[in-house]
Parts: sequence; structure tokens; C-alpha cells
Amino acid sequence: MGSESKPLKIYMLPFFAQGHLIPLVNLARLVASKHQQVTIITTPSNAQLFDQTIQQDKAAGHYIHIHIIQFPSAQLGLPPGVENLFAASDNQTAGKIAMAAHLLKPDIQSFMEQNPPDVFIPDIMFTWSESTSKDLGIPRLVFNPISIFDVCLIEAIKSHPEAFVSDSGPYHIPGLPHPLTLPIKPSPGFARVTESLVEAEKGSHGVIVNSFAELDEGYTEYYENLTGRRVWHVGPTSLMVENTKEKKPVNKTNGNGNDKHESLAWLDTKEVGSVVYISFGSLCRLSNEQLMEIAYGIEASKHSFLWVVHGKEGEEDDNWLPRGFEERTKDENRGLLIKGWVPQALILDHPSIGGFLTHCGWNATVEAISSGVPMITMPGFGDQYYNEKLVTEVHCIGVEVGAAEWSMSPYDAKKTVVSRERIEKGVKSLMDSDGEGGEIRKRAREMKEKAWKAVQEGGSSQNCLTKLVDYLQSVVEQN
Ligand code: UDP
Repeated sequence: MGSESKPLKIYMLPFFAQGHLIPLVNLARLVASKHQQVTIITTPSNAQLFDQTIQQDKAAGHYIHIHIIQFPSAQLGLPPGVENLFAASDNQTAGKIAMAAHLLKPDIQSFMEQNPPDVFIPDIMFTWSESTSKDLGIPRLVFNPISIFDVCLIEAIKSHPEAFVSDSGPYHIPGLPHPLTLPIKPSPGFARVTESLVEAEKGSHGVIVNSFAELDEGYTEYYENLTGRRVWHVGPTSLMVENTKEKKPVNKTNGNGNDKHESLAWLDTKEVGSVVYISFGSLCRLSNEQLMEIAYGIEASKHSFLWVVHGKEGEEDDNWLPRGFEERTKDENRGLLIKGWVPQALILDHPSIGGFLTHCGWNATVEAISSGVPMITMPGFGDQYYNEKLVTEVHCIGVEVGAAEWSMSPYDAKKTVVSRERIEKGVKSLMDSDGEGGEIRKRAREMKEKAWKAVQEGGSSQNCLTKLVDYLQSVVEQN
């Protein structure tokens, strides 16, 4: 079966945010490389983010297409081109972009009616996909951009309200394969949102995740027993693409020759393992007060840093930085501050990077693991509080800084900030030669080995991808 059978016509539908889109586009390319006919359904601006890569795959003989659906900009009152959460900086705009996922249902459904695929693989955010698939009789699998570990933790929290009676943490979570603690009370709102999304997995043939079996050890079984649904681990998708196709994953471009990004050129001047990469992902907009604390904290740690800040592009006034901060760090060649998009996966792969002060977005976490970079964790919102636990308490590949309070949104400035002292302490304990970094670094290297093994021929993710294609073939034959 699989590659010898008639190719399947598979539609994939990524949600409009980088953390969702990058891994699902990588998955589309992986499935196309297994001789299947893949179409990615998306909107014009989102298509621009990966069109070039897809054209290269096509030129290499893979059947992969982009089908464009118009974004309902006028209906939502959004300026033309604002079609991705990356372009949002407030809840209202983000809410409208999320709403587009619902408004597009009739257009996508009518396209599918006229050109029915054999299989439909939407992002979990398209909750209407359950009824569409049912109505059209099309088998469906769901892509979930967060980790299976998170879903298990959310479930354990829900089942043990007695663990949260105290007004202050740490809160001990029972019932999971590892003893886990949460420093602050989780938001019931987030659990509700996640549950409603996971609910939409019902009736599907399982959930596909950007992770590898070894990273979710113990939790996959927990999840499968809990939901009765199968988990397909086909990640890290960027490593899989790199390995399978000898090509650049969507997020590993812009690092070669004349195109070399300034961050990479700067890293070339630094010593191996000496730089802390600081990034809070594509969505988080930290308050000026929090940015100030990060600046003071990293400066006090005396370690070199590459700091990427989003949401400040084009702003003249740097009143969120301590006086003279940029000049001091530039003069000593100790730091580089970039306002705007950077090639993160390439940065994490650079030998000069010794640690990653991260918001624990799921993709950032998987990318750090793939590069063997230990983390300093400071979650921003949503699932990131749980990813932190996987890093610091399950696999012990990071130092925990933690958060000051829970947030559901990347745009709401928190009332309390994480202090400069906490940040300095976290950075030092990973990066100082007499800190706890040695053991953590060793485990991060071991986890990287596991990730790389998973994507090799005969590795767990590679086998899972083959099994997935075979499974889809058999489902379609029986349909
Ligand atoms: N990313 C990047 N450059 C940036 C910011 C983000 O390449 O300047 C990529 C990052 O490597 C990851 C994705 O965007 O693949 C962000 O996903 P993640 O789940 O880490 O966080 P989110 O942005 O969704 O909070």
C-alpha cells in the first residue's frame, strides 16, 4: 500500500497564525513527498508566506498545490492583507482573524463539494470541519498545533479541583505519569477553550501533532485512553522536511550566501554556546515594563544575547529600554537587538547559541529541542504555561523563570511583571559555568539526539508518517 497505491487527493487547511501554519505546511510537503496529491487551502496573504517553497517542491516533481480562498476583509472591517494573527496587535483584530476561520466555511465547503478530496486535514481551529466532513462523507484527521502533554495536563487539572483550593501555589497535579507543579492557578477559561477545540476532534480518524513519540512518552497512552482517538506523531516537522527532502523547511530559509540574515552574521562573531537567544514568538506583545525588566535582567547576567522584539517595528522611541542600553551592548559587542522577523530555526541551530529565553510557544519548544538548545522558560499565554512544565519538570531541559500571572491573550499587558532579578537568576543558572546548566545542557543534547533519530529512516516519526499514509489509503478504500 502507500506509495504504490493510487495517490490520494488530500486537502489541508492551516489556521492563520505562524505557529499553526508553519508545521501544517511542512506536513503537507511531507505527505506530498510520499507521492500523494496535496492541496493547501489558504488566503492570499497567507499563501505569500510559503508560496516560494511550494513552487520549489512542485519543480522537484511533487504534486502540491495552493488553492486560494478570498479572505473576508471587508466583511470583518479589516484592512486588505491583514490575514494572519502575526499582523494583529490587539484582541479585537485577533478576534476578527479568528472569526474569518468561521466565515470561510461556505466557500471552503462549496470548493470541497465541487472538487471532493479523499481526505481532509484541517487545523483544530476550524471547528466546523466536523460537520462538513460528515455532510460530504469525507474522512478527516485534525492537526493540533499544541502538545498532547498539554491536553493531558488540562484534563488532570479539570479532574482534580481539590488541588487548587489554596490561594497561592505551587499546586501539585496528581494523576499524570510525572509529579507536576504549577506555580500559579490556571485559568478555567483556557481549559474551556481547549476542550471545545479538542471536542471538534470527535468523529475524526485521529489527531496529528508536531512532536515525536519520545517527547510525549507516557502521555500519548494517557490521551488515547482518555479520548479513544489515535495520535499521529510526525514531528518535528521541520526536521522531517530537512531529512526527507534535503530541502529547507519553511522556517529555515534566509540564512545562506548574500541573503544571510544580520542575526546569523552577528552570531558568527561569537563564541560557541555563549549567546542567549531571547524571543517571545510571533504573537506576544510584552508591556514596556516587562521589556524593561528583561533588558535589566539580561544586562545584569553579563551574558551575550540576541534579542528579538515584535510589535516595535518602525517605532522611534525606545522608552522601553534602560537609558544607553543599546549603545552599551553594541560597544561591547555583547548584544544584538532586532525589531522584526528573524529566521528562528536557523538561529537556534547556530553553534554560538547556548540558551533560549522563551515564551514556550509549542513550535519554539520543538525547535529548541531539535537544535539541542536548553531553555530558560517564561511563558506568555495559553498553552505556554503547560509547555514550560514539559521542559522543566518532565524532561528537565530548561530552567524555570515562570510567569507572574495567567493570561489568555498575547496582547493583554499583564498587571504584574516578571522581575529583572528572576530573569537574571534564570539566565545565570543556565549559562554560568558554576550554575546548574551542565546537567540541563547534557539532557538537551540527549533529547536532540532522540528528535534526530525519530526523523531518520526507521525512526518513530518517519514510521508514523508511512503508517499514516497507509492508514489513509485503507480508510479511503473502505469509505
Ligand atoms: N518565528 C520565526 N521568527 C520570528 C518569530 C517566530 O521564525 O521572528 C517562528 C518560530 O520559529 C515558530 C513560529 O514562528 O516556528 C512561532 O510559533 P510558536 O508556537 O513558537 O509561538 P507563537 O508565535 O504561536 O506564540
